[in-house]
Amino acid sequence: MPTAPKWINDALEKIAPSMLRTVKVEEIFYLNANIKKVRLRGDFSALHFAPGFTISFRVSPTESRHYTISNVDDSARAIEFIAHIHSNAVGAQYINSLIPGDEKIKLAVLGSDKQYDPKVERQIIFGDETSLSLMSSFLPYLQQNNHPYQFLIELDDENCDIPEKLGLKNYRVYTKNNIFRDKDQIHTIPELSDDVWCDANIVLTGNVQSIQNFRKVLKENRHEGKIFAKGYWLEGKKGL
Ligand SMILES: Cc1cc2nc3c(=O)[nH]c(=O)nc-3n(C[C@H](O)[C@H](O)[C@H](O)COP(=O)(O)OP(=O)(O)OC[C@H]3O[C@@H](n4cnc5c(N)ncnc54)[C@H](O)[C@@H]3O)c2cc1C
Repeated sequence: MPTAPKWINDALEKIAPSMLRTVKVEEIFYLNANIKKVRLRGDFSALHFAPGFTISFRVSPTESRHYTISNVDDSARAIEFIAHIHSNAVGAQYINSLIPGDEKIKLAVLGSDKQYDPKVERQIIFGDETSLSLMSSFLPYLQQNNHPYQFLIELDDENCDIPEKLGLKNYRVYTKNNIFRDKDQIHTIPELSDDVWCDANIVLTGNVQSIQNFRKVLKENRHEGKIFAKGYWLEGKKGL
């Protein structure tokens, strides 16, 4: 629930305390002025993480915003996420304001739908700046289990070097608001005309409009693999 009256958010915190963790900001790192990695310290030992694990911050008395965990340390005492500081909207502003030492940050742990299936050989993950955390969480699984995989990332020009800074591999960067707004151009993506990818597991995240276009093309192509789609943001819409 991205927007709710304050009393409902207060009540939820009281009746579902097991979903909440109180954490401390341990470290922050700006990959550039718009992309921030945050490391949080807390007790995450009871949680079963998988790629796509979602957390939520109460960024104002009435607003909550979702982010994806990119990494959990071996002791399960620290997690990281990567955020796009896209404007001074309430969520972006909240994340931008976090500094090392901030305490008593309340975090709801929401879990994840099954996005990674180790039994499927080939995997494609699509998204934008908001999906970099998800892609980082997928990477070790894809590498350790020797999957052929491809990240397809639409990015603003100033963020084009971020995948390399994050150590992502097998990625292709596309200019934002370009090919994923045009179904004919989506058809030109190499993996879509190569039969070996016809039953790949495909995870679509990021901008809702781009996801919808990509999904339509996959349906037109009668893609045989599973398609998981989760919109992270939509122009003109607060929270998702
Ligand atoms: C399951 C899930 C996981 C997510 N994981 C991440 C994550 O790991 N990292 C991350 O950065 N984001 C992630 N998001 C997206 C993030 O929650 C949204 O971008 C959210 O809208 C940010 O809140 P805000 O208050 O900054 O902007 P809002 O108040 O929600 O929106 C204000 C305006 O900004 C626009 N807007 C929102 N996001 C963007 C954007 N990225 N670029 C350009 N315009 C935007 C909106 O369309 C709206 O017009 C995730 C979302 C979901 C649903």
